Amino acid sequence: MPGHDHKPADPIFEDAVSRLAKALRYAEIEEEAVERLRHPKAALEVSIPVRMDDGSLRMLTGYRVRHDDTLGPTKGGIRFHPSVGLSEVKALAFWMTFKCAVANLPFGGAKGGVTVNPKDLSKLELERLSRGFISQIAEFIGPDTDVPAPDVYTNPMIMGWMMDEYSRIHRRRVPGVITGKPIPLGGSQGRDDATGRGGFYCIQELPRRHGMAPKSMRVAIQGFGNAGQSVARLLHAEGYPVVAVSDSQGGIYNPKGFDVPSLIHFKNTTRRVEAVYCHGSVCEAVDADRITNEELLELDVDLLIPAALEDQITEGNADKIKARTVVELANGPTSSAADAILHDRGVLVIPDILANAGGVTVSYFEWVQNKMGYYWPLEEVHHKLHEIMVREFDGVYEIMESKRIDLRTAAYVHGLNRLGRAIAAQGTYRFFSGQSD
Ligand code: NAD
Repeated sequence: MPGHDHKPADPIFEDAVSRLAKALRYAEIEEEAVERLRHPKAALEVSIPVRMDDGSLRMLTGYRVRHDDTLGPTKGGIRFHPSVGLSEVKALAFWMTFKCAVANLPFGGAKGGVTVNPKDLSKLELERLSRGFISQIAEFIGPDTDVPAPDVYTNPMIMGWMMDEYSRIHRRRVPGVITGKPIPLGGSQGRDDATGRGGFYCIQELPRRHGMAPKSMRVAIQGFGNAGQSVARLLHAEGYPVVAVSDSQGGIYNPKGFDVPSLIHFKNTTRRVEAVYCHGSVCEAVDADRITNEELLELDVDLLIPAALEDQITEGNADKIKARTVVELANGPTSSAADAILHDRGVLVIPDILANAGGVTVSYFEWVQNKMGYYWPLEEVHHKLHEIMVREFDGVYEIMESKRIDLRTAAYVHGLNRLGRAIAAQGTYRFFSGQSD
């Protein structure tokens, strides 16, 4: 059901929408256009029957929300996680609308998810779930209507199964229905590390502006999956000391900095960053202290990169954050109440809708390549991504400085201006009431 009522049961979505109020004071957009953006275009809830390996049937719940398609087909990832719910998916879809607008992509925003812990499923059960979810939402998505992608606990192989299922239903190959696919199935070069790389390109703009050298900028990263690992690898290669990382099991800290390629190797072979600390010879090879996720957030570092889930920096811990800059690779890791506290304390927050836009940008490249049937080399993808990230970072930074507002509000202003122009081009009250041509 589209969310036309302001239900108190929608806390995450309400918090996401509340950010608009501040940005509106600085954006060139009519109230009527903003009212449209306060409501998702459509929301679908589905039940997915999954046959388990022991022969039993398990019913799972999935969601797909299309927030706004003024700028183009809607775009956004699919998440498999036990905490997935409609309010969260609506908020994530809302952020996608703004992220695509900030990156100037011809896409609107959407998101999807299934309430499940995929770690409890076998590989065959995971494939049945992935295909079953697509089968239930097949009429809601499409290469020119709504294009999913990976998100938390989904990956290229899952995207490949989903594209195959959609193609099977439609009895023709439709690679452009989903992005983040494996390269042999129509994926793009450079999509795997695009989210972390986009964040890295934003971070690279800081040393010049703040007069700091990368090797003096200590980094802590919460979440060591796709986004967290990619940014860690790129920062390490550029000389930034990565002093702490964590995953859902906990974190590790070494003030001297880690050898990131070995951390990635251990995480991906043992599936836990903690294993780096506690496995015999490895413990001796890697010098680290165990820390909790909460402790990681409060470390005295220059860059804090939340790259896991939403609502990690809240009213409860915002005054304990010691990082000079927070780079939001995760979606919505900072609550709006925490935002105000961080801003008052002079912490620069590179907001999610800018910092993690690299993922959707290379997803856009993948969709374009699928439509053309012509594929670009890696260097071309990197070059095009760099151009977009730096251009939009500069644009948002300029708004921040000229209007003397925080970077998140500036990013919303940037997106709202683009959305406002597109919505006004279809006619608003000013046009229909004869106040403008
Ligand atoms: P992923 O599944 O690859 O990795 C998630 C990581 O977070 C894992 O290391 C997991 O162990 C860790 N984690 C889970 N719960 C945690 C907790 N409570 N505390 C600390 N760590 C925890 O997911 P991803 O694709 O890297 O996505 C991470 C974030 O980045 C999400 O907010 C996602 O929406 C956002 N994002 C991802 C992409 C993308 O292209 N993958 C694009 C834009 C934004």
